[in-house]
Amino acid sequence: MANCYVCGVYLPPHEPHYRREVPTGRSVGGWVSRRSYGAGSRAYYGLRTLCATCAAAKDAHDRAVGRAVGIIVLIVVVIVALGYLAR
Ligand SMILES: [Zn+2]
Repeated sequence: MANCYVCGVYLPPHEPHYRREVPTGRSVGGWVSRRSYGAGSRAYYGLRTLCATCAAAKDAHDRAVGRAVGIIVLIVVVIVALGYLAR
């Protein structure tokens, strides 16, 4: 007997369960819109069972965040490199 932590759909025992690290603290089911990066903000994460739809959505979101972080790092590296070249 299990339910999806995000959307609450019932997950029959014979169907696959997806375990994902999700925010369990101040934002229930809001990792897309209420993810906080600020220092001092408190968010708690824990392993919860998700349905296939929510697990796929979370995986896609995590990949998007990973790409965004990679692009930001790349931009910073280019700016620093240009700063050195300009001298
Ligand atoms: Zn779900």
